[in-house]
Amino acid sequence: MPGDPREGRIVVVGASLAGLRAAETLREEGFTGSLTVVGDEPHPPYDRPPLSKQVLLGTAAADATGLPMRREADAEWRLGVRATGLDPLGKRVLLADGDSLPYDRLLIATGTRARPWPHPEQAALDGVFTLRTREDAGILAERLAAGPRRVLVIGAGFTGSEIASACRERGVEVTVAERGPGPLVGALGGTLAKLAAGMQRAHGVDLRCGVTVTALRGRNGRFTGADLSDGSRVDADLCVVALGALRNVEWLADAGLAAGPHGVACDAGCRAFTMYGIVTDDVFVAGDVSRFPHPLFEYQMLSLEHWGNAVAQAEVAAHNMVSPGPLRRPHLTVPVFWSSQFGFTIKSVGVPAFSDQVTIAQGTLAERRLVAVYGYRGRVTAAVTLDMAKWLEHYRTLIETAAPFPPGPGAAGGRPLVTDFPIPSDVPDARGLSHGPTVALTGHLPDRRLTVVRSAG
Ligand SMILES: Cc1cc2nc3c(=O)[nH]c(=O)nc-3n(C[C@H](O)[C@H](O)[C@H](O)COP(=O)(O)OP(=O)(O)OC[C@H]3O[C@@H](n4cnc5c(N)ncnc54)[C@H](O)[C@@H]3O)c2cc1C
Repeated sequence: MPGDPREGRIVVVGASLAGLRAAETLREEGFTGSLTVVGDEPHPPYDRPPLSKQVLLGTAAADATGLPMRREADAEWRLGVRATGLDPLGKRVLLADGDSLPYDRLLIATGTRARPWPHPEQAALDGVFTLRTREDAGILAERLAAGPRRVLVIGAGFTGSEIASACRERGVEVTVAERGPGPLVGALGGTLAKLAAGMQRAHGVDLRCGVTVTALRGRNGRFTGADLSDGSRVDADLCVVALGALRNVEWLADAGLAAGPHGVACDAGCRAFTMYGIVTDDVFVAGDVSRFPHPLFEYQMLSLEHWGNAVAQAEVAAHNMVSPGPLRRPHLTVPVFWSSQFGFTIKSVGVPAFSDQVTIAQGTLAERRLVAVYGYRGRVTAAVTLDMAKWLEHYRTLIETAAPFPPGPGAAGGRPLVTDFPIPSDVPDARGLSHGPTVALTGHLPDRRLTVVRSAG
């Protein structure tokens, strides 16, 4: 590798949000070497959040969600070709077309894919979908526009709930089956899950909680309905499986990196760990595929599926890839997430799943306009706003400064708190859900020793 980190060969694997923003930042930071971006999708980078919102509503075409380029990345784009392996010693990325790309520094930005329905022959029925790509959204939007009698959505996480919302807005009957006690429970906890359940039912969703789908049924190769664990049956002509995401790490199986179901572990400077927990200096990670420690959350490893995190982390990774050690930066932004559904905008700052208590700081459950503040062991760790997004910055400051929980008088922007009696936040163990939350704490608390290290003798 040449002495100047702004020269040499950089390969980015994953040509979506994190890959694009990293490529742009590399050039902004003065990288003059060769830059190659590999992506297995045939398209230039596009945006996914509109896929479950405007595209399903028919207000945007699936092929019109291209990500704007902030600047010319001056990169070679190898699109439509999958990376199949990584040789970290020879410093090469192996491609499905038989080619291999040498690198001096590599960025892994391969994101996630939709978790498929576990029974392949049922998943192959015409009318059964998942939603992750532009193609998925395009065909699902067409089928919704054709006016199905009923849609079955399996899983009431953010994606499943947004799909249900789009169905109702189009006047389509929809049944949502959720294994947990309510929609969004993994991400937001039990109190807001009750509110979300009320919202869905008020909009005409046939919401079934505490049940699992045991089988998808079909006739002549077409989906016709599903059996539920409570013995009931749902007749429907479309089914969307919204069971969360799987990290795209299989291509790294022989690379000796700390890559697994929760993603590729890296340090706060986005450098990948080897499987022995040793930090590399030439392999970096960013976006949904990453798993990184955050000091605000007791250094637990966070796996996020957040648009804003992919951008911020890609920028830090790119900066660090072309900066000498002392000038490198940590990725410490406070996670932020948004969702629109059933006419509401839900925004979240911090990590609601990292909480033991919650209190309503402003607004009311009845009004469906509120700020819920989450705390863990006596300090503020997250806030979720429902149609009160202007307060998000204020609560971000409380999180960043580890302000005491429950927040003191005046914490609600100078007003008294609506309720100063915190209740359990009731965040379930994500392993019990049919879908993961969009943020998972994948470490363990420092006071809980989970492994015993034995010496060889
Ligand atoms: C329907 C939907 C709605 C969403 N809505 C919101 C929202 O409202 N708010 C929010 O904050 N976030 C939302 N998100 C999440 C947000 O889109 C993601 O956080 C973001 O896309 C992450 O970007 P990424 O680049 O890390 O990963 P991805 O976007 O997953 O991109 C990874 C890319 O790498 C490619 N790839 C994978 N393996 C390989 C390989 N071996 N070789 C080559 N290429 C490979 C993939 O095909 C993909 O193109 C939504 C996501 C979806 C799917």
